[in-house]
Amino acid sequence: MVSMIHRFFVPPFSGETVHFSDEQARQMRRVLRMSAGDRVLALDDSGWEYEVELMGEGDGRILQKSRSTIESHHHLTVYVSVIKWDKFEWALQKGTEIGVGRFVPVISRRSFLQKTASIKPKRYERWRRIIIESAEQSHRARLPVLADALMLNDAMEEWASYDFTFMPAVYAKAETVSLRHVEMPQLPQKLALVVGPEGGFTDDEVKNGRIHQAIPVSLGKRVLRAETAVAVASALLLTDF
Ligand code: SAH
Repeated sequence: MVSMIHRFFVPPFSGETVHFSDEQARQMRRVLRMSAGDRVLALDDSGWEYEVELMGEGDGRILQKSRSTIESHHHLTVYVSVIKWDKFEWALQKGTEIGVGRFVPVISRRSFLQKTASIKPKRYERWRRIIIESAEQSHRARLPVLADALMLNDAMEEWASYDFTFMPAVYAKAETVSLRHVEMPQLPQKLALVVGPEGGFTDDEVKNGRIHQAIPVSLGKRVLRAETAVAVASALLLTDF
């Protein structure tokens, strides 16, 4: 579908008319200088893209729909250790562009917060907005899910449910397998990635992760910042170019 056309996520709808939020309608009018008759793409997080003709007052008429072809056939959940907010937001933004399907904030030993309740609803709202903007910008047809934060130990309970769970960890000795050399089956896989905070995972956390099916992997000889590790590892797992 045409790439210059502006994209907007909307709540699920039925029928031939799409309603945009007040904020979206304002953006179309004031920022994009659009008016009735102009076209946008509406996305309802179903994998479909709807070409819509604006009718004014924030409504649009569906002209045609088509199936998005850009979503990766693997599904990737990234467990991102809580790191300084600006870095965390960068990880959400880049992860969304790269194709991550779900983000789970996790609190590990060396995170700067130690309670999930310290992350306020306003913070989640801001993260959701960042994900939506980034998804629109990168032409996603599915919105990455943002889960509630978990303590690392609780997060581990989910790991056996993935086809593969990778835990990039930095070791003094380069004894771990490189994520680049992991052979991924061709069939769609349910994948998970677990990235540590600025100070890394503790040895116990890595040991415990292994018990919960996580495969420790290396991302190369150089030590990456946590947010860089999210982007690099996600890209390695979702390459479809
Ligand atoms: N200060 C820590 C590094 C933390 S980097 C130390 O020196 O050990 C933050 C996180 O990014 C790590 O917990 C790991 O999950 C990931 N990471 C960064 N570089 C990596 C690499 N070269 N290999 C594997 N994981 C890496």
